[in-house]
Amino acid sequence: MARKLSTKFNSLVNRFFPKQRIKDACKQKHCYLCDTTIYQHEPICAGCKLDLPFNQSSCSHCSVPLPELITSKSDKAHSKRACGECIKNSPSYTESFSTFCYTFPINALISDFKYRNKRHLGKLLSAITAETIHTRINSGQLKEPDKLIPVPLHVDKLDARGFNQSADIADDLSRALNIPVDSRCIARVINKPAQASLSKRQRQQNLANAFSIRRKLNGEVVALIDDVVTTGVTAEQLSKQLLEAGAKEVVVWSLARTPLRM
Ligand SMILES: [Zn+2]
Ligand SMILES: [Zn+2]
Repeated sequence: MARKLSTKFNSLVNRFFPKQRIKDACKQKHCYLCDTTIYQHEPICAGCKLDLPFNQSSCSHCSVPLPELITSKSDKAHSKRACGECIKNSPSYTESFSTFCYTFPINALISDFKYRNKRHLGKLLSAITAETIHTRINSGQLKEPDKLIPVPLHVDKLDARGFNQSADIADDLSRALNIPVDSRCIARVINKPAQASLSKRQRQQNLANAFSIRRKLNGEVVALIDDVVTTGVTAEQLSKQLLEAGAKEVVVWSLARTPLRM
């Protein structure tokens, strides 16, 4: 009797809830940004992805967004431009790359990635970054580094947050680009308050003794990995220390760069 009921129950379930429909319902989710229904592994829809604020035209030294030049596509792809700040005072790192401008919705996505533990959002932005860097390395627009070094977090911050967002990004880039990560070379030894609210001069003073080299380098080209480059002061401080520690060259890769205040 029980077996009969179970067979009947299964056939009823199959009739009213076909397996494919159940599978589709499980896969169905909503775009993180516009809430439209999507059937894919990425957290945002194709339309929102296309609309992200890509850092199309930027300084090749510090990747600060610059106004678009009216040139042909091929000129644009090969032109190296420098911002006024880099012409006056060239940074110690050779070049940098930021995939996005740190404006909406990238600021919201990165904030949720870091402070609300939405690590899948970090993975999405790292995947787009890896794809773009791969293309640029192949076309000779970016140098291929020997290793990736994530900007370190102080151990107290690491305990509070549970993960270092730059290390997450470095791991994703490492897997996609097949470049090893070295996260033991440099450590953050002083946990200063968040840099975001400070002026450039205050940041420089704040950072002077914040990092300590733990392992010497051996003439490698290293890519410093960060989530957001705001003023470039952290990147410059770390770059100087990595060069002193024996790096041949430092390049800076980040998900996003803060535009200049007009
Ligand atoms: Zn969307
Ligand atoms: Zn610049």
